[in-house]
Amino acid sequence: MTKPPNSIVRRTPWPESSSRPVATPLQPSVVYASASPDALDAQYEGRAKGYTYAREGHPNADVLARKIDGLEGASGGIITGSGMSAIAAAFFGVLKAGDHVIGADQLYGRSLRMMKEDLPRLGIETSFADPTDPAAFAAAIRPNTRMILVEVVSNPTLRVADVAGIAELARAHRILLMVDNTFTTPRGFQPFDHGADIVVHSVTKLLSGHSDATLGYVVARDPELQAAITSTAVTFGLTASPFDCWLAERGLHSFELRYDRAEANAARLADALAEMSNVDKVLYPMRPDHPDHNRAVALLGGRGGNMVSFVVQGGRDAANRLVQAAPQIAFAPTLGDIGTTLSHPASSSHRALTEEGRAALGIGEGFFRVSVGIEDADLLISEFAAAVAASA
Ligand SMILES: *Cc1c(COP(=O)(O)O)cnc(C)c1O
Repeated sequence: MTKPPNSIVRRTPWPESSSRPVATPLQPSVVYASASPDALDAQYEGRAKGYTYAREGHPNADVLARKIDGLEGASGGIITGSGMSAIAAAFFGVLKAGDHVIGADQLYGRSLRMMKEDLPRLGIETSFADPTDPAAFAAAIRPNTRMILVEVVSNPTLRVADVAGIAELARAHRILLMVDNTFTTPRGFQPFDHGADIVVHSVTKLLSGHSDATLGYVVARDPELQAAITSTAVTFGLTASPFDCWLAERGLHSFELRYDRAEANAARLADALAEMSNVDKVLYPMRPDHPDHNRAVALLGGRGGNMVSFVVQGGRDAANRLVQAAPQIAFAPTLGDIGTTLSHPASSSHRALTEEGRAALGIGEGFFRVSVGIEDADLLISEFAAAVAASA
């Protein structure tokens, strides 16, 4: 008996169904087959919709991007492979050699590094200023200043930038204002309502929320600027994998519930920490003792977010004891997970600074940053009480 020729490598047509899936399908295909060269022409010329190659775009990235667009009150944003690739796409899509960028002096570590090392290597000047002081930004402006990058709430000291003052300055000098909205999220702050031109996110953090996808998002208010950023992202290969987008969309469905719960927990934990006897200091924007409390209330509309920092008495030994007394709380330098995580900037994000440099920011060995999760608040408070007591 002769067997028919083997056709197992030929893809089987997708089974027909008059009903549609409720969950977003995961579409990992790298390439898309077209009906004819004419059909391809129509697609490239924008007369027909369709995907061609995953680096250029795919359904899972688009579904996720439209959802984050909706949260930010924006349109046309793109998903990138990480928060850093979102920032890179914005810088390299917009800037040219000879331009100058001003950054806030307490940016995310890799953003600082990109501005201190990579942009200058390519002929782009950079300098830094205190984002709580628009006068410092005014003094840093040069004739070739093209862009400003700020985070609304700084890491790990949770200082609140004077976004209104900086936006006014940017507008007056025709400088593009880019806001990294990762910490605040669109639920806590809407940069486009406050004069931002470009918004970036590490979707890895709160938006995705489960520490299982590394992604970013970037959107510009001006469609021409967006087209330039998108083109750079596609050319440099900064775009994202379908599976990560699919996971992040799944996480995003519960984002608002998670954010509200984590924020309520953070407010309670901050107050509880402030009552503990060997805690020297608690930083939470909605506490009246926060250095930027009034601005936080005005700018963030009462939303303090899920991040809390605190300082315990004692040096590194006390810090070690605290972490070891709370093994159920992941000691990991990330944020935005459903579970509470604890980080120690002196040994992680800020280890490259000198001790004096850290001291100038108020970051000593007793300084901890907490990304508060969605656990039961009473449980969390009792766990922190035990850990803080063990540090003494
Ligand atoms: C984590 C983070 C980034 C970088 O995001 P990745 O997804 O890790 O590349 C940028 N900005 C802020 C504020 C962050 O917290």
